[in-house]
Amino acid sequence: MNKRILVIEDNEQNLYLVTFLLERHGYEVIAARDGKQGIRTATEQVPDLILLDIQLPSMDGYAVAARLKESAVLAPVPIVAVTSYAMAGDREKALASGCSGYIVKPINPDTFIGEIKAFLDTGTSGGEQL
Ligand code: MN
Repeated sequence: MNKRILVIEDNEQNLYLVTFLLERHGYEVIAARDGKQGIRTATEQVPDLILLDIQLPSMDGYAVAARLKESAVLAPVPIVAVTSYAMAGDREKALASGCSGYIVKPINPDTFIGEIKAFLDTGTSGGEQL
C-alpha cells in the first residue's frame, strides 16, 4: 500500500512542487493550507508522515506540531518541518515542538525524495538531522 503523506503548506508553488515530486514516486498526498485544516485532516486520515511548513497563517508550524503530538493516534507519526529559516535555534524549536527533523527551503528536487524516504524508514532521521 502506498504511504500517505500529509503536506501542510500555505504556499501554492511549494505545495505544487512537493506534491508533484511525492506523487511521481508513488506516494499518496493529502494537502492542507493551514494548521487548523492540517490537524483536522491528520485526525481524519492519519498519514504515515507529515510535512509541515513552519511559516503558516494564524497558527505557526511549531504550534501545529505540538498540537498533533497531543493526540495519542497522531503522536507516532513523524513530522518533518519545512522552513526557510536556517538558524540553529529554529531547529531546536522544531525538535522541542515534536518534529523529527528538518528540511530547508528551497526544496531540492534531487535530494527531497531521499530525505522523505529516510524519515519514513526510521521515523527520526534523514534530511537535516536535529
Ligand atoms: Mn508558508
